[in-house]
Amino acid sequence: MQMLIDGDWTDAESGETIAVENPATGTVFDTVPLGDAGDLGRAVDAATGAFDAWSHRSLRDRGRVLFTGAEEVRRRNGELAALLTAEQGKPYREALDEINGFANTLEYYGSLSASLRGDYAKLPGYGHALVAKVPLGVCGAIIPWNMPALIMGWKIGPALAAGNTMVLKPASTAPLTCLTLAGILGGAGLPGGVLNLVTGSGETVGRAIARHPAIRKVSFTGEVETGKQVMADAAPAMKRVTLELGGSDPMIVCADADLAEAVEGAVRGRFYNCGQTCTAVKRLFVFEEIADRFTEMLTERVGSITVGDGMQKGVTMGPLNNRTVLDRIAAQVAQVRERDEGSVLTGGDMPEGQAFEGGYYYAPTVVSGVPDDSVLLTEEVFGPVLPVVAVGSLEEALAYANRTRFGLGASVWTKNIGDITQACEGLRAGMVWVNQHLRIPPEVPFGGVNESGLYRENGYDALENYLERKTVLIRP
Ligand code: NAD
Repeated sequence: MQMLIDGDWTDAESGETIAVENPATGTVFDTVPLGDAGDLGRAVDAATGAFDAWSHRSLRDRGRVLFTGAEEVRRRNGELAALLTAEQGKPYREALDEINGFANTLEYYGSLSASLRGDYAKLPGYGHALVAKVPLGVCGAIIPWNMPALIMGWKIGPALAAGNTMVLKPASTAPLTCLTLAGILGGAGLPGGVLNLVTGSGETVGRAIARHPAIRKVSFTGEVETGKQVMADAAPAMKRVTLELGGSDPMIVCADADLAEAVEGAVRGRFYNCGQTCTAVKRLFVFEEIADRFTEMLTERVGSITVGDGMQKGVTMGPLNNRTVLDRIAAQVAQVRERDEGSVLTGGDMPEGQAFEGGYYYAPTVVSGVPDDSVLLTEEVFGPVLPVVAVGSLEEALAYANRTRFGLGASVWTKNIGDITQACEGLRAGMVWVNQHLRIPPEVPFGGVNESGLYRENGYDALENYLERKTVLIRP
């Protein structure tokens, strides 16, 4: 595929390309342009040129374009889900959820668009004070490969509804669904130049987005260390940033929890998308009284996960997205074994057999008895490996849960209202779930505290983050 600049499909000026692999087989099935700072500059010029007309379109009109785009995405969701599975690896069913999540997000911001309002106050002595909410101009977006379609929706929905134009860089290992979605929006009436997609590496195109002075805001989703670099690169031009970064979410299972539900919650929370979700359950704390029974049920359930090519019927967990992430997860488990940091109860290796040849597969893994300083508790584990720790009380669980530099999501599983209140108050996270985990509706703000990020996506908050306030005092 080519990239999209000013409404035209185009190659990189250098003519170079990047190969896109299917992680289920390791085979290359398409290429995208290897853009550079020059290509990014062309996209910024296009977005600058398109800004005036788009920002002056009526609120209803902008909303209508998002609705029409969402409708077309839903109509083509099967084809889009298959493309997402081919480049990202997740099972088709999960890919379909993600495509529908993209459409939901566009519809949500399409509906908010028409109700966008500023403020007014009559100030005796000064006159009439108007607080107008105006779009920022050209915004930049940099997204990862784990949920490319959904995260693209989280960024373009509020940015475009607010009247901004955008330059977006997809991840190099999953750019095709994003490009296809951008093409669909063009067909739905989004004018050329309002949304431009430049493919290329993070070091060149990503950094150029963070540094380009004409881009007034950068919304970044990815790893903590990359987020810090983006923030530093954005500082000289004093541009706004939204940073949605890594996490190491705790899940606390109290003694009175519904065990079957909690086991399902932990399995979905950890192994959905092959463990490659920012808010996946990455540390599991279980009350001692139920720890043995719970771990036994969990291990048995994890053993029933069917690993394979996400397009095959019955497969419930696909491969990891790329070689780097597979190598990292394998190294983390190797370290656990070398340092005797717990018992691997199931998994702990790459599955063997012809069906897995060439692909980036790792078996779903449960490790119990993990000590405090284990790599599984201190680093972000971005793959299908779940450490289980037994705890003596809610206080101990909360202390463990908060012993991290991250702070994205967290969940507590109990029916006791006192424990729910204590956990909701005590957990240091941007999002706390009770008796559920991982679910992120577009209607409410989402983001992290500590090193998991800055500011919020989703909800009305995200729309506000794409608007500037302009105060006008009118003396009659
Ligand atoms: P990553 O940081 O390696 O890459 C993310 C994007 O940034 C890619 O498009 C990449 O090309 C680009 N990039 C790389 N270096 C850059 C640089 N120096 N300047 C600008 N851009 C650069 O992350 P990843 O491996 O693609 O994604 C996994 C990470 O994303 C995990 O840590 C996960 O927790 C996090 N994540 C967070 C959220 C959230 O909402 N908080 C959601 C999904 C994923």
